[in-house]
Amino acid sequence: MLSFSSSKSFTTAKGFPNLHSLSNPFSDSISLRLNPPTILNLRSKSLQITAIDAAQPYDYETQLRTQFNKSNNLKIAIIGFGNFGQFLAKTFVKQGHTVLAHSRSNYVDVARKLGVSFFQDPHDLCEEHPEVVLLCSSILSTKSVLKSLPFQRLRRNTLFVDVLSVKEFPRNLFLETLPAEFDILCTHPMFGPESGKNGWAGLPFVYDKVRIGNDEFRMARCSKFLDIFAREGCRMVEMTCAEHDKYAAGSQFITHTMGRVLERFGLESTEINTKGYETLLNLVENTAGDSFDLYYGLFVYNNNAMEQLERLDMAFESIKKEIFGYMHRLYRKQLFEDEGGLGVSKDKKVGQKLLHGGSALELPSDTLPPNGAAREPPSETVKQTP
Ligand code: NAP
Repeated sequence: MLSFSSSKSFTTAKGFPNLHSLSNPFSDSISLRLNPPTILNLRSKSLQITAIDAAQPYDYETQLRTQFNKSNNLKIAIIGFGNFGQFLAKTFVKQGHTVLAHSRSNYVDVARKLGVSFFQDPHDLCEEHPEVVLLCSSILSTKSVLKSLPFQRLRRNTLFVDVLSVKEFPRNLFLETLPAEFDILCTHPMFGPESGKNGWAGLPFVYDKVRIGNDEFRMARCSKFLDIFAREGCRMVEMTCAEHDKYAAGSQFITHTMGRVLERFGLESTEINTKGYETLLNLVENTAGDSFDLYYGLFVYNNNAMEQLERLDMAFESIKKEIFGYMHRLYRKQLFEDEGGLGVSKDKKVGQKLLHGGSALELPSDTLPPNGAAREPPSETVKQTP
């Protein structure tokens, strides 16, 4: 039922409402009550609504907004509650945020212990209307996990964040998949459950505000999320996803690769560990807890990783050539000076003597230095050779 006050007539001669009067209801004092049939008539005429109502203090969204503005706490939904998701949740809960979680596996008990509400059904989680949805799934599963979320159940504007160790991939995926009115923040906390177990102070946190609406509420929500890490003392680094991937392939991917190589190599702690050796042991410890999915994701989803792996391989080969070449040169020189020159068979013996602890190794001829200085024995030695 509509109600206005007016001294004017509010109906036409045919009994239809006088739309001119309706279009300017505050021009005079009029009084009209329209019963339901009249309202139907109104609809059949070309009456258009050109403005929506102003938000009232009792509206649901306004209440949420007021509540949000007063508090620093966020409602954060973690999607993918594995190793890293649980690690982040501990700090979120400690800071007083409300944390919800959903994962492929059932983590109800783990979540309860951490003070997190676990939802096995993503629909139930989305109906809780979290302000932030944080993707913590493996790099390889992220696309299918994201596509399984019922976006229509979320608030019409929600902030999506990811913590994947590669950045261009989730950025493009978010831009392609998420509704246009959702905000996007791509982040990479550059530490894990092992390296961050004693606190996050000084540890780098990379972020890229890919799409944050130009609205006070939306900007504040993004700042509040970033503040979680700033408050823990992280070194906040803003850079594009492309820059991140370029740097990370040369640092993080290589770190993980070396950690895995050394783990396979079988480093053991001894009583005489040097500081350098302790660093290697720590590297193995830091990377050993990470899943192979994570390592594989770093390789497959970072366009720069293959190039870095090849460079590492070349560097290793070059170091081997350098030390073998040096050794070869030295022994040849010694051989020809001390024994007046030796044949190929004796040369081989030298190689075997060097490897007394292991198997025999043929020293490759290309291990000699490029100037060929040691390829030929000194001229006087040549003369003595029969
Ligand atoms: P992860 O092996 O990379 O990911 C494990 C998570 O992915 C679990 O929540 C798991 O769910 C989910 N998952 C795996 N396969 C799935 C599938 N087919 N369908 C649905 N969910 C699937 O290990 P993580 O260490 O926990 O890393 C999580 C994310 O954080 C990754 O994107 C990683 O790059 C990033 N990150 C990790 C670190 C770190 O130090 N670990 C640091 C920074 C960023 P269920 O457990 O339910 O099976």
